[in-house]
Amino acid sequence: MLSLATARTEEELVAWEKRIRNHLAKRDIDASGLTYVTEPKIDGLAISLTYENGVFVRGATRGDGKVGEDVTHNIQTIEELPKEIKDAPALVEVRGEVYMPLAAFAELNQRRVDADLPAFANPRNSAAGSIRQVDPRATAERPLSVWSYALGTTDGIRRLNTHFDEVQWLAEHGFKTNPDTAQHQSIEEVLERCHWWLDNRDKLDFEIDGVVIKVDQLNLWKELGSAGREPRWAIAWKFPPTTATTKLLEIEWNVGRTGHMVPWAKLDPVRVGGVTVSNATLHNEEDLERKDVRAGDTVVVLRAGDVIPQVVSALPQKRPKDAAKPLPPTHCPACDTEVVKPEDSVFSICPNRSGCPGQIFQHIKHFVSRGAMDIEGLGEKQVHRFLEEGLISDVADIYNLKQEQLEALDRMGETSFRQPHRRDRQVPGAAVLESALRDRPARGGIGHGGGAGTRVRHDRRDPRRRPRADRRDRRHRPDHGPPGK
Ligand SMILES: [Zn+2]
Repeated sequence: MLSLATARTEEELVAWEKRIRNHLAKRDIDASGLTYVTEPKIDGLAISLTYENGVFVRGATRGDGKVGEDVTHNIQTIEELPKEIKDAPALVEVRGEVYMPLAAFAELNQRRVDADLPAFANPRNSAAGSIRQVDPRATAERPLSVWSYALGTTDGIRRLNTHFDEVQWLAEHGFKTNPDTAQHQSIEEVLERCHWWLDNRDKLDFEIDGVVIKVDQLNLWKELGSAGREPRWAIAWKFPPTTATTKLLEIEWNVGRTGHMVPWAKLDPVRVGGVTVSNATLHNEEDLERKDVRAGDTVVVLRAGDVIPQVVSALPQKRPKDAAKPLPPTHCPACDTEVVKPEDSVFSICPNRSGCPGQIFQHIKHFVSRGAMDIEGLGEKQVHRFLEEGLISDVADIYNLKQEQLEALDRMGETSFRQPHRRDRQVPGAAVLESALRDRPARGGIGHGGGAGTRVRHDRRDPRRRPRADRRDRRHRPDHGPPGK
């Protein structure tokens, strides 16, 4: 069985293309029509499926050796896999990847933890473990799926010219193929697509660890051959992994915007998603309780895209004997008020709603964030500073900030209210004004449950309440109009 060469940088991918062209040039083969196919590299278990006269007869893993493990009975339990194919040739071998969708993985791990069974470290392991179950009924309980992406040995199939034709043949015959598989005319297009996958990977319900790039023309596969066990006509562009395991050192608590105690994890620093992560969110008290994560645990950390790193689950099999269940603090970490837990709530809260600096900070931080008012240049650091300086005590105060105050902080290098790409906004504080003038409803939590957020909406000082005409005037300032007017 062949394995794929990998590229981790654009340069490596471009070098791969150059090698292909050189190889073909040396053999006097015209490479002018060379095109490529990209498809996601599913982080699952490679599988080979054999159909004889249209009937599924064998499923085998494709480990390292030539002969894999026979997993026919377990494969048969996968609903999405066709057991029979129409207009069947005498023999078809289909190659694919068995995988477990991310949601199913999380759910399975939860069930295992509840049953005192060891949790899986990643979706790949859970898929591999599930497909190797001795009892097919146990496999059937695991929501596995399979992507098909290539034809292997065939007999009696019409001639196909390109890899893309193969994928289409599979789709036409009832196999699940990835709808985002695409053809490209140049290596530049391939690179663009690789970045598209990287940007979109966290929107998928399955884990991918890269992109597979193949030469599309099947006749060129033969010409290119392989170097050792690696075919020259394909390469895997590998992403940095999004999950990693590490030790959770301590569970700490913050107070959230609505007074909830918010747990977070201090981690033994670990490389994940291309960066070093040493803190991760544990979401909330209920989630923490459900996942049963404890200090001292080895945990699975997920970091995908721009999302805050999170602890997905603990591996209880590696838990130290003395690891105790974490409890929310008895006193608010921000204002030291005694924490209460209302009878009907699963959350412990700081009841000091109007005077807790922690809650005020979180509230303002949320208010200026991208999900809400989106005030550029006013971030966590500045909010913290303004509160400290007594310049603001609630969100409405942001709109009353004086130019001089901002300039004073600016001179101290404390603020960054500048948007140098627009001349007219090169003043401290312009971003506040700009955000206020934007005709854009706040999302995600503002106006939440009659709390402080709702007050903000109707605050008279809120410049969003200025009459529409006024707003429009401001947005179409003379610098946007025709020259000389
Ligand atoms: Zn508090």
